[in-house]
Amino acid sequence: MAEAVKDAVSQVAEGVKNLAVAGEQKAEQKAPKPKKEKKQKGGDSDGRPLMLDPVPEYIDHRVQIFEKLKAKYDEEVAQKPREKITVTLEDGKMLEGESWVTSPADIARGIAKSLFERTVIARLDKGTAEETLWDLERPLEKSCKLELLPFEHPEGKRVFWHSSAHILGEASERRFGCDLCIGPPIEDGFYYEMALPEKAAVEQSDYKPLETIVNSIVKEKQPFQRLSLSKDDLLEMFKSNPYKQHIIKDKIADGTSTTVYRNGPLIDLCRGPHVPHTGRVKQFKVMKNSASYFLGDANNDSLQRIYGVSFPDKDSMHEHLKFLEEAARRDHRKIGKEQELFFFHEASPGSCFFLPHGQIIYNTLQAFLREEYWNRGYQEVGSPNMFNSSLWKVSGHWQHYAEDMFTFDVEKEKWALKPMNCPGHCLIFKHRERSYRELPIRMADFGILHRNEASGALTGLTRVRRFQQDDTHIFCTQDQITEEISGLFDFLRAVYGKFGFTFKLKLSTRPEGFLGEIETWNKAEAKLTEALDQFTAGGGGAWELNPGDGAFYGPKIDITISDALKREFQCATIQLDFQLPNQFELEYMTSEVATAKSKDDKTKEEQPKAETQKDEKKEGDALTKKIPPPQPGYARPVMIHRAIYGSFERFIAILTEHFAGRWPFWLSPRQVMVIPVMPSANDYVKEVQAELRKQRIHADIDISGNTMQKKIRTAQLSLYNYIMVVGAEEQEKKAVNWRNRDDQASQQRGEVVPLDEAIKKLVQLRDERRIENHI
Ligand SMILES: [Zn+2]
Ligand SMILES: [Zn+2]
Repeated sequence: MAEAVKDAVSQVAEGVKNLAVAGEQKAEQKAPKPKKEKKQKGGDSDGRPLMLDPVPEYIDHRVQIFEKLKAKYDEEVAQKPREKITVTLEDGKMLEGESWVTSPADIARGIAKSLFERTVIARLDKGTAEETLWDLERPLEKSCKLELLPFEHPEGKRVFWHSSAHILGEASERRFGCDLCIGPPIEDGFYYEMALPEKAAVEQSDYKPLETIVNSIVKEKQPFQRLSLSKDDLLEMFKSNPYKQHIIKDKIADGTSTTVYRNGPLIDLCRGPHVPHTGRVKQFKVMKNSASYFLGDANNDSLQRIYGVSFPDKDSMHEHLKFLEEAARRDHRKIGKEQELFFFHEASPGSCFFLPHGQIIYNTLQAFLREEYWNRGYQEVGSPNMFNSSLWKVSGHWQHYAEDMFTFDVEKEKWALKPMNCPGHCLIFKHRERSYRELPIRMADFGILHRNEASGALTGLTRVRRFQQDDTHIFCTQDQITEEISGLFDFLRAVYGKFGFTFKLKLSTRPEGFLGEIETWNKAEAKLTEALDQFTAGGGGAWELNPGDGAFYGPKIDITISDALKREFQCATIQLDFQLPNQFELEYMTSEVATAKSKDDKTKEEQPKAETQKDEKKEGDALTKKIPPPQPGYARPVMIHRAIYGSFERFIAILTEHFAGRWPFWLSPRQVMVIPVMPSANDYVKEVQAELRKQRIHADIDISGNTMQKKIRTAQLSLYNYIMVVGAEEQEKKAVNWRNRDDQASQQRGEVVPLDEAIKKLVQLRDERRIENHI
């Protein structure tokens, strides 16, 4: 296989996956907890020393090698010729320096001490091939452009958290004498992965002692020292640590070198960079621990991960902990249980059971889209759940996505549950001859999809095996792209607006190793840009360019929404696809042929169909297969994959947390609770419920033996949008006394309104899909 094709092929899996997941954030692989066969000796802190004494032998061994080689290196640097260099700051100001002497730290301190203290890391030559992050105290080697990045900068944060992982590693070695493995920064902090002696597990009772050791490391202000080592020296330095040995042998080519960093007694294999010294990490907290496997492979050793988070000041730590608390309060798994929305069962992990109240939300979301589909000229279809592998071979899934599908045998042939609807929709398009007059076809499908996620990776509704998407494939001509995309932006705005989400757009363009004609790409990207510009001009907010990040089969637009906690999620994607229509040899009659035909129908039969070699088609890679061009007078449609909610399951999780379970009236499964003042009003309670139900309002009643006050309190806690309290007086007037969940003033006494009027207002509130609970 030619290299270019190989590249393209290796990207298929990624491309298909990216599309498939529709932006779901990859949850980190969670390995099941290993059974604790052996309780660690003295696992709780009674009687156990804070740190090992004496320190593990490998510490001295590493330090000796480091000191010897560092002395040699320092000597070499001393020999380097000193030259004048120019350092250009962000504001264009130019400063003079000396090569191998002047460091970014010198420059920062020269401007202001506070600037140095705020700065986490330097970035050199941004936007050039030389762009690199540089330790603050590391002398510059030549003229450069210099940026000083604070903690608030995403790169600054990563470096800060990565440096904190080293501190945690040092503390762990001192406490456990463990073999460290890897310690990366993650989205909300960092972890260090390690093997404890005798396969022991980290205990919660280790958290405080670890934090105590960390505090002493921070006080010591240990500098992070960088040194480059040959592969042989590295193997010697880490000879007692099998994991570092593996990484060195696997990742570092013979005869080359890489860097280690030292802070205090810890010397770690690391490319860096880091903060200048451990004293920068003023706030540090161990958050949790878990078990994992070396390199994420269940056949490897089971390891322990300790997660932490750190900040340069107290306020940031405080804010972060508050945020976590609020996120936990809103956790959809917690609210899902409290509100009886859904559950999972070990009989089918990753496939959700929606309870009646959860299903109401599901159906309401679906009904909303169906209404929009009607208004926007979409056509809904239904398609099979399982397909013979021959279909997946044409689409390329069999070759590149098989691991993520559930496959099985039917009558001695291989089949799979569909992980996405696109190939089936290509069959629908191909079912009969298509004319340009029919385009665009907007083919919507709420089909059930299955993906083979590892059981350890499943989390609530955000990572599941069975789900439904609000999936649509638009088949259109190249000339229709701009209009279709503009239509999608309008659709996005209409949908997200109903939930109070704001959103951002990002255009990802042609990557290396793209397939198809460069002209097709250029035209399509120009059309997407045009649609994005129109959107911005129409008050839709700015969009960003993400050059080279498109899928190999077409450019795409990623849409990120931001929730009530300002967390960002990608739900929607708009993906252009030139490739799948090609794989399936889709075509439509262009206007020329169609006109000719209406003149003389006979020509139709005489049109020679391009012959395809059926046998060849079945074999080999769908992408390397030679695909005949459309027959004369026909053209290939462009396919646009698009989803707005993404998966219903994940979208419901996001909505649950966004609203913290306080559903807007139109989505709420608990819209009204009717409560009698005394049992004699029970009949009227039932009558009110019946009237509400006639208007399809979800109304419950409470005619239990509890007191009225208790019933009101329970309904308030259940977050009913409206509570109606009725007694003899209301019955006589055919009225209700109602309280609005989101209006504190109405909670105390309520307000008496005629039942007719109340129902009319509620119906309006629902049908307008208003987000506020105001009448
Ligand atoms: Zn590091
Ligand atoms: Zn698709």
